[in-house]
Amino acid sequence: MKEIWEKVEAAHQIGICGHVRPDGDCVGTCMALYLYVKKNYPQKAVNVHLEYMPERFAYLFDGTGYQEGFENMPECDLFFSLDTGDLERLGAAAKIVEKADTCICIDHHISNTGFADINVVDPDSSSASQVLFELLDEKKIDKSIATALYLGIVQDSGCFQYDSTSRRTMEIAGILMEKGVNTSNIVDRTMKQKTYVQNQMLGRVLLESLLLLDGQVIASRITQGMMEFYGATKEDLEGIVEQLRVTQGTEVAIFLHEVGVLEYKVSMRSKEYVDVSKIASHFGGGGHVRAAGCTMSGTYHDILNTLLEWIDLQIKDRSK
Ligand code: AMP
Ligand code: MN
Ligand code: MN
Repeated sequence: MKEIWEKVEAAHQIGICGHVRPDGDCVGTCMALYLYVKKNYPQKAVNVHLEYMPERFAYLFDGTGYQEGFENMPECDLFFSLDTGDLERLGAAAKIVEKADTCICIDHHISNTGFADINVVDPDSSSASQVLFELLDEKKIDKSIATALYLGIVQDSGCFQYDSTSRRTMEIAGILMEKGVNTSNIVDRTMKQKTYVQNQMLGRVLLESLLLLDGQVIASRITQGMMEFYGATKEDLEGIVEQLRVTQGTEVAIFLHEVGVLEYKVSMRSKEYVDVSKIASHFGGGGHVRAAGCTMSGTYHDILNTLLEWIDLQIKDRSK
């Protein structure tokens, strides 16, 4: 992929963004590319803008110069869209893309629409960070770049657990480890540690969860009222759907977060045979076979009933 680095060489102003509601892979990939360009192309003007920096990742990137929000993002001739399957998921940054000469997309979503000028998309890859690693010169990766890439890989592979984890994922992790990454600290602080409010929300969601379709589906939700009651932010909802997913005997976990009047952000996870990306894509969202999301309108029970019909169809198709 020499072409990408030729574009970097030729660019005057480089902009880097990921998707809205940034997760660890989004943050890790954006920060890794930003630090790599800053270190290896010091004469280039480069900016990284995230919608916001989630608190649990911030300590890894103190003093690196990332920006939160897109209001002050300068126009750029070269734009990198990372870990993002479609233009809409870039949020307000989509405006900057329109004005850029070239947009390069580095991603791993199966639902990727190929919206950029250059698309490097590998749906079999554990993470966008892994896709990015393959484009970098290993010798030019220092400890800070390796730390960002490691964050992206551990977060999106569920700490090397999901099917997307390959031999290559492990090899890359090993290479990054040798660059001096504090691997146990990253797992502990960014994956295992929970705030008190996070634990309270998790408890509430589990208590109120429903087992549906003969126990093959587990579902629960958080309302805006609950968010206010516990003083929670959307960051406090991290990891809840994963906890629902590990319920013995279930195939699909559904978690709904009320974001407006009769409007829910839907998160879905599956274990073996239901393709949740197909369902999320049908409702205007996307993601991966085993982890996907979308936004839906209606009451909690209406949305659940709609999703259950789709899941049931897939389960019935399988037993044909
Ligand atoms: P989440 O449930 O928010 O953790 O998302 C799971 C996966 O689905 C992630 O890879 C997201 O990038 C993707 N995803 C979530 N919501 C959407 C959406 N509205 N549109 C497209 N992809 C989404
Ligand atoms: Mn992501
Ligand atoms: Mn990702």
